[in-house]
Amino acid sequence: MTPSSPSAPTPAAAPNAGARIDLVGLSREALGAELAALDEPRFRANQLWHWIYHRGATDFERMTTLAKSLRAKLAERYVVGRPAIRQDLKSVDATRKWLLRLADGHEIESVHIPEDDRGTLCVSSQVGCTLTCRFCHTGTQTLVRNLTAGEIVGQVMLARDVLGEWPSPQDERLLSNVVLMGMGEPLYNFDAVAQAMKIVMDHAGISISRRRITLSTAGVVPMIERCGAEIGVNLAISLHAVRDALRDVLVPLNKKYPLAELLAACRAYPGLNNARRITFEYVMLKDINDSPADARELVRLLQGIPAKVNLIPFNAWPGAPYECSTDAAIQRFGDIVNAAGYASPVRTPRGRDILAACGQLKSASQRARRSAVVAAPALTE
Ligand code: SAH
Repeated sequence: MTPSSPSAPTPAAAPNAGARIDLVGLSREALGAELAALDEPRFRANQLWHWIYHRGATDFERMTTLAKSLRAKLAERYVVGRPAIRQDLKSVDATRKWLLRLADGHEIESVHIPEDDRGTLCVSSQVGCTLTCRFCHTGTQTLVRNLTAGEIVGQVMLARDVLGEWPSPQDERLLSNVVLMGMGEPLYNFDAVAQAMKIVMDHAGISISRRRITLSTAGVVPMIERCGAEIGVNLAISLHAVRDALRDVLVPLNKKYPLAELLAACRAYPGLNNARRITFEYVMLKDINDSPADARELVRLLQGIPAKVNLIPFNAWPGAPYECSTDAAIQRFGDIVNAAGYASPVRTPRGRDILAACGQLKSASQRARRSAVVAAPALTE
């Protein structure tokens, strides 16, 4: 039996897209059904798909392979939407963060991280998060709702708009990789995430391969198998501790799905081999999880799993209960893991100056909202 989302948070409220339906996020089949309802042949869905996801068109008038009468019919009933940019911040290191407003007024963030050989978009899967990881700023906020598939794909499309990457280029892309490492727990919103990733991977459109997509989870064990089987993207696990007693504190989800179960699910991840390893993320917290004994225990836990380890220097935020490990401690930890045969790069923090680094997302918009609350109490949720 395939499990449905366990302990799924508040059901997704349908965002108010106005009277017209937003086509972004519909599967090919659903797009075909919309066209069939207009008495159009279903194959027109392929033409529409090309305009929306390959060319990036948002205006039906520009879809010149469709008859003028059909363009008019479509414009009456549908839109090809985008989230609105509330803020566009650029870091000194060229990382870029967009604060986006959704159709119903909620806000999310996406981060673009340019590197020499790639450009990665860090995408959010929920507004806020329910997980309350002790070291994560997003975890201090309450979940408002799940994102829809359209809102997840919309982040990629918006980034493409801003980066000027339409029609979808084949190579040398500024947006070549996607990581589901923004706000939220993607495996608590699996159906929308899966539908969105299928659209992102589709060869006739955005066409980002599954090898260039990584889903990061805090460890929603019953959904890990489906993630591999249904979308086959790279898996990253936010491990952060090697003993249940500590992981229960840092990642409270561990109380539900302890380390032994989590690692068993990793061992069974479909498609896993030496060329497709699981990434284990490990945030370096001073005197908490950064001892040589911890590193040795990590090596023991990973035994038999094709794995690499990403060491993430802790990114502080106001009121955070932890400090970042010293460089020497990170080095020592990495050396032990590396000597055991696991790549263990230290992830360079990107975009810290614009609060775009791991675990810092949404904080700015929350502060802004708090001051807005003071200014206009009648508008609070
Ligand atoms: N909920 C998913 C997706 C979030 S990914 C998950 O937990 O994997 C964001 C990554 O940044 C996670 O590995 C998270 O544990 C890490 N992170 C959170 N807060 C951080 C911080 N303050 N410093 C460094 N990494 C952090």
